[in-house]
Amino acid sequence: MKFEKSQKLYEKGLVHLVGAVNSPVRAFTSVGGNPLFIKKAKGSKIIDADDNEYIDLVLSYGPMILGHRHRKVQKAVKKALKNGYSYGASTESEIDLAEIVCSAFPGMDKVRFVSSGTEAVLSGIRLARAFTGKDKIIKFAGCYHGHQDALLVAAGSGLATLSLPGSKGVPEGAVKNTLISEFNDLESVKKHFKKHDDIAAVIIEPITGNMGVVLPEDNFLVELKKYLESKGALLIVDEVMTGFRSKFGGAQELLGVQADITCLGKVIGGGFPVGAYGARNEIMEQVAPLGEMYQAGTLSGNPIAMAAGIATLTELKRQDPYEQFEEHASIIEVILVETARKYKVNIVVNRFGSMLNPFFRKGEVTNFEEAKASDAKKFAVFFWEMIHNGVFLPPSQFEAWFLTSALTDKDIKKIADAVDKAMLAVSKM
Ligand SMILES: *Cc1c(COP(=O)(O)O)cnc(C)c1O
Repeated sequence: MKFEKSQKLYEKGLVHLVGAVNSPVRAFTSVGGNPLFIKKAKGSKIIDADDNEYIDLVLSYGPMILGHRHRKVQKAVKKALKNGYSYGASTESEIDLAEIVCSAFPGMDKVRFVSSGTEAVLSGIRLARAFTGKDKIIKFAGCYHGHQDALLVAAGSGLATLSLPGSKGVPEGAVKNTLISEFNDLESVKKHFKKHDDIAAVIIEPITGNMGVVLPEDNFLVELKKYLESKGALLIVDEVMTGFRSKFGGAQELLGVQADITCLGKVIGGGFPVGAYGARNEIMEQVAPLGEMYQAGTLSGNPIAMAAGIATLTELKRQDPYEQFEEHASIIEVILVETARKYKVNIVVNRFGSMLNPFFRKGEVTNFEEAKASDAKKFAVFFWEMIHNGVFLPPSQFEAWFLTSALTDKDIKKIADAVDKAMLAVSKM
């Protein structure tokens, strides 16, 4: 496999782009080598600048749930393009996408569209503060909620991959109202409430994807919600990654919990920039123009992005691929576990719906500490062997792999062959 054109583009990209990437998670810092440049993609496959073809388990970090260039999404986008690109005024498409999203989330009467997951979360936090009149926020170590200042502490994959505790350039004042708790540890939440009486909300990834896939223990979210209600604090569920991934709607429903505020992104734009936050009427009425919490966006509810989102969610509902996801993920889990056993490599696989990943370590992963104790060097060897055998993975031990409804049995066979070679390579380290 040659990477000559990617290599040349990388060198050229370094001149005017930072690290030749526009998001650090795309850099190959922790796996070594240079990032691949992508030329095009179709269905479950992605093709790089050197015409190497891979089964894509990155899927743009989640959005491409139907696979690349789905016919119906492409048709909807082409149709929308004919009318205009952006107006600075409302369009019917925003109402249509809002109806689909609200119907899928029982706790959401109203929704506001924005242009990214980061924006959705920072607005959701502002809304929780506006509604409660309190300032402090609790987040969990290893959860990532976008790159807003207040939440760039103990923030999972991107930072963990680069071994950064937080980000430079974030003033102390910006994080002084951010408290950190441990995932799956309710006591670590209660501890903060004992010390502070001005906690507005707790924000959580219901199933984490940004320290790798970590599942909440039985009833963790239910107990958390119950506790927060007793304290008059809100639960913000960040479903930017999990929304529409494990069921049509959110992971919260599967976990038996209802958020006060839900944040969305990724899948709901079908590959175009869409984020959203929503809640019951009483909370959303705080948002301008109904209320006094200001939040705005020149390109919010962009008609092309709305068209892609509507087409994606409509097709997703029609396909109802969630049983298939469960089946495919469990097959891939078995492939990983059995191959690792064959070559005597220690791994543990976590999965939920269409998200999964192996951690190279012995013993379970239930929080950030355990995730961080994985062997990133082994992952790096595994990663490159998978690339050389035609499977594109996120270039980090701390990222979830994603499945698309376009994945075929033939693809899975190819993944199995690649895993065999990759585990063998790891066993020889
Ligand atoms: C990706 C992600 C974000 C940030 O979304 P962007 O569109 O990258 O700004 C926030 N929260 C979670 C859980 C995410 O996975």
